[in-house]
Amino acid sequence: MIAAAPSPAIDARGLTRRFGARVAVEDVTLEVAPGEVVALLGPNGAGKTTTLRMLAGLLAPTSGSGTVAGVPLTATADAALRARVGLLTETPGLWDRLTVWTNLLTYARLYGVTDPGARVRAVLDRLGLADRTNDVAAVLSKGLRQRVALARALLHAPPVLLLDEPTSGLDPAAARDVRRLVAELARDGTAVVVCTHNLAEAEALAGRIGILKTRLLAFDTARGLGVRPGQVSLEDVYLARTEEA
Ligand code: ATP
Repeated sequence: MIAAAPSPAIDARGLTRRFGARVAVEDVTLEVAPGEVVALLGPNGAGKTTTLRMLAGLLAPTSGSGTVAGVPLTATADAALRARVGLLTETPGLWDRLTVWTNLLTYARLYGVTDPGARVRAVLDRLGLADRTNDVAAVLSKGLRQRVALARALLHAPPVLLLDEPTSGLDPAAARDVRRLVAELARDGTAVVVCTHNLAEAEALAGRIGILKTRLLAFDTARGLGVRPGQVSLEDVYLARTEEA
């Protein structure tokens, strides 16, 4: 059972991140409740990954403030945040020469997980990876690496889960399994932010959808954004919002 995050699980206020003269993310305010799934949509370079990295404590905001799982988003909060946040990035970050088992066991120990071996086994089972335990990470296909990376993000049962394109490169069955897993985790109280280019996935998974293009152009339920099944699709809304911005 996952410890419920304080409410709201994510409370970000006016997050801004510059890289030199470039403003990657500007004035993003986002609240996510425990058990809520939020999808972040946006064109390439819109600032989705940068936003997740700030929420995970990997990147300090240039300005703005907030808390994630009760931890303030300050420049020194990264270790405390890492313990409370699961982050799946686009680059799985596995040790190529180590087996799946050793990769995950090492992370479980780094996270200070109680009974790391049992936890690794449970997460591998949950992600359908039990038969890959002894494979060296280097030989895994792209989709399998993605699944192992997701397993890693879940090892410490974080109350906040940040997923950057979690189903990209997965076959349809594996993608469906990941969506089911995300829905289950949310039912258990995990707050989830998913960045995706897959609009159907966003609609299927998320209670609220944010449309980001450096700024958060909209943040609402599909209906609140103007989606009307059979008349106005999420794609219509997304394209209208991002093209006019
Ligand atoms: P995609 O959908 O292509 O993954 P994204 O919405 O995740 O894009 P980001 O990766 O957050 O976008 O990038 C936002 C902007 O910030 C881009 O212009 C990118 O070039 C810039 N950027 C991101 N990281 C850095 C960095 N470390 N140094 C300089 N610029 C960066």
